[in-house]
Formats: sequence, structure tokens, C-alpha cells
Amino acid sequence: MRSLVWFRRDLRISDNTALFEATQAADDGVVGVFLITPKQWQEHKDADCKVKFLIENVRDLSDKLASLNIPLLIKTCDVFQEVPDLISKLACETDCDTVFLNREYEVNESRRDDRVALACEQSGVALRRFHDRVIVPPKAIATKEGKFYSVFTPYRRVWDSTARETIETSPIPSSQPEIPINRDPVPEMVAGFDFSNVRSDLWPPGEDEADRRLKGFSKRILSYNTQRDIPSVRGTSLLSPYLNAGVISARKCFLEAEKILNSSDGENEGAKTWVSELTWRDFYNHVMVACPRVSMNQPFKPKTNGIPWRTDEGDFIAWKSGMTGYPIVDAGMRQLNQTGWMHNRLRMVTAMFLTKHLLIDWRWGENYFMSQLIDGDLSANNGGWQWSASTGTDSVPYFRIFNPFSQSKRFDPDGLFIKKMCPELTTVPARALHDPGKLKAAISSSNLDYPDYVVDYKAGRERALQAFKSLK
Ligand SMILES: Cc1cc2nc3c(=O)[nH]c(=O)nc-3n(C[C@H](O)[C@H](O)[C@H](O)COP(=O)(O)OP(=O)(O)OC[C@H]3O[C@@H](n4cnc5c(N)ncnc54)[C@H](O)[C@@H]3O)c2cc1C
Repeated sequence: MRSLVWFRRDLRISDNTALFEATQAADDGVVGVFLITPKQWQEHKDADCKVKFLIENVRDLSDKLASLNIPLLIKTCDVFQEVPDLISKLACETDCDTVFLNREYEVNESRRDDRVALACEQSGVALRRFHDRVIVPPKAIATKEGKFYSVFTPYRRVWDSTARETIETSPIPSSQPEIPINRDPVPEMVAGFDFSNVRSDLWPPGEDEADRRLKGFSKRILSYNTQRDIPSVRGTSLLSPYLNAGVISARKCFLEAEKILNSSDGENEGAKTWVSELTWRDFYNHVMVACPRVSMNQPFKPKTNGIPWRTDEGDFIAWKSGMTGYPIVDAGMRQLNQTGWMHNRLRMVTAMFLTKHLLIDWRWGENYFMSQLIDGDLSANNGGWQWSASTGTDSVPYFRIFNPFSQSKRFDPDGLFIKKMCPELTTVPARALHDPGKLKAAISSSNLDYPDYVVDYKAGRERALQAFKSLK
């Protein structure tokens, strides 16, 4: 019996359910495969930095698998349609009787996997799929009436007990019998993606790096609840690219927080809050599976389709390029453009600014974020955008519109982050950064090269309120 493991967004050997099960089932070796699907990734708007990070982690995975005598094959096919044929044929060519994989929950991906299952069946190859991406699988939690939870807090209550009762991890597999199949080299480039401007110093690849980050963060976790909203400090785990590419398992992160909670008799607000964020990750996957329209460009609340979203290209360009004249918004957008990552507080601030103050369609913003983010993930990105736009499940009420000046005063009082990302504002006193009149005066008196407000925030707010009210 030989197993074929198809790696996708689970690029690790530690606590990888499909990999471990494949080694348990095999007595004549295990083969791995990773598919590069450039056109599909382009259609999904994947960012250059995300694809580069993926490829670098595939390289790390290939080395780790080689040390277990598991050769990793690399195949390229343009789009998902070609995959069923490719996987079923590969299983036959490598004498594998079963294909093992960890589920991906997005609509395109799960349809592709259904077609792979069919193609395998027709070729006499078995296919085994596992839940591995999240801590509690979608559909594992339902209300007493068997419906899906569309509100986070009751979901979280059930999630908490389910997670603790059901969590199981897999060990790193033991070394496998050698087989006469050579691993493939991992390419340096992927057609259609430009790696030349991607900063590689910020996100070193590999499981060891992800573990190091988790260990480092666990020493800081106590202050997570007080520091996590402050973009100028390293208050969060910075694990999202690793979780997204599956370089570390969400279970491992959860168990690390649990260990800390247990050793403090549950008295660690930082660890509790962090677990809650991991729960949001599961929640948005759960929503996407229960309500697939959210991943097909549709709002969770259908009536919000009636909002007269503006299609102002000029305003959109100002937002994208971090030139709106609102320092905290511009600092966030520049962080995204320069590093491929944005602090969570700023993701909320910038998303709300686009969808409320500029009243621009959340789907424009969602797509733009996806095209830039190293951690771009359909469920979390869509969840975050629909939350900010008040179109989603359990989203922010439409009338609670973040004031960009109050946000910066609260979360970047000394303007440290703003001045780092917007160096043209270095000489502006911090107080003026949080006050529209003083900011305007400081800019004109020093003749600073910083744009005027793209919209008057009070007028923008009023326009958004009217647009939402008109829905009733
Ligand atoms: C508009 C918008 C878009 C977003 N797009 C993405 C995205 O494409 N990919 C992504 O991973 N996260 C996204 N998020 C969620 C969040 O901003 C990031 O997960 C977080 O900033 C990553 O930093 P961290 O790893 O230091 O997080 P930490 O604060 O350390 O949290 C730990 C982990 O929990 C998960 N998590 C935290 N917050 C959320 C959340 N609100 N929703 C879902 N999962 C969460 C992430 O996997 C994160 O790595 C988005 C949020 C908003 C408001």
C-alpha cells in the first residue's frame, strides 16, 4: 500500500492530519505532491508576496519530507479544471492506491476536490479527506434547531467546549521506507507573479520560524488584550501568513494558549482574548461553508445589495495609495502596500473608511486587500470586509462608523505609527494628527507635501447613514 499526499495550504509535517494518516496507511512508502496553479491563483487575486511565501514554504516542506524519505513532486497546471485528471493519473503512475488531503472550504476548492474524488474513483484510487485547517470544523457546531450560528458570541460558547472536548493532534510521522521516486526541484518563479519587489526579511519561511514566533508570542501573550490594538508595538502574534499557508496548525496555537491558561488558573486575559481571535478564524470558515454566497461576491445580508455604492475611481486610487489626507488611514494602506500585511485595527479602520466615508463597494476593497496581503484568506478577508461594511453576519451596526481622528488618538496617540508610515508628517505635532482643523493648519503653514482630505469625514459619514437608512 502506497499513499499520495496532496499538500495545499497545510505546508508542514507537524500536526498534519492527512500526512500522518497517509503514513499510517502505507507500508510501501508515501509520495507528496504540490500543485502550482498560476492562472487560478491570478483569478483568485493572490498577491505576489503570498505566492512567493507559499513557494518558499513548499521548499522548506520538501526538505523536511525528504528527511522522512517522502519525495515531494511539484506539478504545474494552469487552472483547477485540469486537476482531477492530473491527480488521478499521478496516483496511478506512482503506484499509490489512496490520495490523502486536508480539506479546503472555499467553493472553488471544494468543487475541485469533489471532481478529484470522482476521477480517482474512476481510476480505482481511493480518496480520503480530513478536517485540519481549523480547530472546530465547519458544520460541527449547530443550534438546537440544527441551524448554523450566524452570531459570534453564542457560536463561541459552543466552540469553546467543543474545541476542548474534541481536539486531537497528530505527531510528526516516522521515517518511511525508501522508494525509487525522486523529489522535484521547487521553482524560483511562478508565471504571472513578480517576486522582485517582495520584501523577504519580514516573513522568513518554514515551520521552525512559525514555531519560534509562537514561542516568542507566548511570552508576550499576557499583554495581548492591552497591546493588540496599538499598531506601533509588536502586540499581536504575526502568525497569520503561517496559519494561512498552513505552516503551523491552528490547533497547535490553541493548545499553546490553553497551556498558558491552565498554568494561570484561567487568569490570563491576553491568552483568553487570543483564543477568541482564533475562534473568529473558525467562525468565518463556518459562515463561508454554511452560506457559500458570501464567497461569491454576495453580501450576507441580501438587502444591502440595495446600497448605492459609489464607483469613484479617483477616490479609490487615493485610498489604495494611502493618499486620502487621513493620516491613520494612509498609514494603514501604506503598511499594506509596503509590507503585504496590515495591523488588524487598521484593517478595520481602512475598510470602514472606504465603505462608509467614501461609500465605495466593499468588494473593491476586498479584492484590493487580497491582491496585496501575504495572509490573504477568502473567509477572513470577506468576513472582515463584510463586518466593516455592515453587510455581513454579526457585523458592526451601520451607524457605528469609526471616526478616523478618534481612532488615531486612541490607538496611536503619539503618532509613532503614522509618522513611520507617512514621513512627510514627521514635523506635525501629535495633537494635530488627531484634529482635522489643526492638521490642515500644520500642513499649510509648513507647506507639507500631504494631500487634502479626499472627503469631509462628517459629510461622508452622513452620506453613508442616509444610504443605509434608505434601505428600510
Ligand atoms: C477588512 C479585514 C480583512 C482581513 N483579512 C484577513 C485575511 O485576508 N487573512 C487573515 O488571516 N486575516 C484577515 N483579517 C483578520 C486580522 O486582521 C488578521 O488575521 C490579523 O491582523 C493577523 O495578524 P496576527 O497574526 O498578528 O493576528 P493575532 O491577533 O495574533 O491573531 C491570531 C490569529 O487569529 C486569526 N485572526 C485574528 N483576528 C481575526 C479575525 N478578525 N478574523 C479571522 N481570523 C482572525 C488569524 O489567523 C491570526 O493570525 C482581516 C480583518 C479585516 C478587518
